[in-house]
Amino acid sequence: MPPLNLKCSPYNKQAGAWKAGRLLDLADRYSRQILFSPIGAEGQKKLAASRIAIVGCGATGSALSSLLARAGIGYLRIIDRDYVEPSNLQRQVLFDESDAADSLPKAVAAARRLAVFNSEIVIEPHPVDLTPKNAQELLSGVDLILDGTDNFETRYLINDFAVSAGVPWVYTAAVGSYGVTMTVLPGETACLACIFPDSPKGIVETCDTSGILNSAVSLIASIAATEAMKLAIGARDKLHRSLLSYDVWTNEHVGISTVRPRRECRACQQRNFVHLAGEERPHITLCGRNSVQIHERRRPIDFDDMTRRLSPHGTVRHNEFVLKFWRDPYEITLFPDGRAIIKGTTDTAVARSLYARYVGS
Ligand SMILES: [Zn+2]
Repeated sequence: MPPLNLKCSPYNKQAGAWKAGRLLDLADRYSRQILFSPIGAEGQKKLAASRIAIVGCGATGSALSSLLARAGIGYLRIIDRDYVEPSNLQRQVLFDESDAADSLPKAVAAARRLAVFNSEIVIEPHPVDLTPKNAQELLSGVDLILDGTDNFETRYLINDFAVSAGVPWVYTAAVGSYGVTMTVLPGETACLACIFPDSPKGIVETCDTSGILNSAVSLIASIAATEAMKLAIGARDKLHRSLLSYDVWTNEHVGISTVRPRRECRACQQRNFVHLAGEERPHITLCGRNSVQIHERRRPIDFDDMTRRLSPHGTVRHNEFVLKFWRDPYEITLFPDGRAIIKGTTDTAVARSLYARYVGS
């Protein structure tokens, strides 16, 4: 994993100048939010003191971090393993065409964009995959964790960490025209494993198979971001305490109470944190449509070196964050720690052999 000191000082380098010159008066910047009486000036200070981690910065993560950065949450840690692609732009509101052309890691592109509209807050980007090994390091030191991921494996990991450490977290998911969200308060409400003891196998739809409406993302991210603000200012009585789902196309909406944990829940009652222990974590996983991810290989890669090695075999391009290598019909994206996303196959054996051939075994 790249070092945690990927702090985003480059992304708020203007902050010092702004503070010195007071180009922006904070009371003025947040005036319309302070006028909303449940928040007020005191609430605004609490938002500024609040520290939030957002895991996954695709569609929901973009919407969540955008709302919370504008609202003045003082510290945002953004963890995402992926890079920006053209098909993201329809719904991932923090990214633009140049980010996709440069294949920028989403965490980095997000931090840059957020700092453009709020340089007063601290944004810490981590372009890595959240795993049982690094979860403790990446999720510690925050008041709240928000789920912007697209898979249950990572959500169970977040749930295990959050329940074991007593940190609240908000589950969100959006696919097709509907979104789902639930706020987990460890020791108080149901947790994700209370509601879904196993990955919901009936629900096999993903954004890659069922598509997604950007408005479904916005709706569910708005509810989750508001829950985050309520938690930050201590308005716990206003939390919705349900598994809330809303379909923006059919207008169906359902709320299932999460007020009480399930008595025999593996996570919050038996405190058996199998996902955090990482007993069954594979090194190679399917990752979206027609691609395979080879997880952290702990093989630091020199991009200049690798470019020289790969040039005779296909097209290679790199920036400081990712290296891309095209060899028909495959596209290999390499990260500095050796992690790779291989597009053009769903066969893990093929992916493994491509990795061994071009990167090293
Ligand atoms: Zn539970």
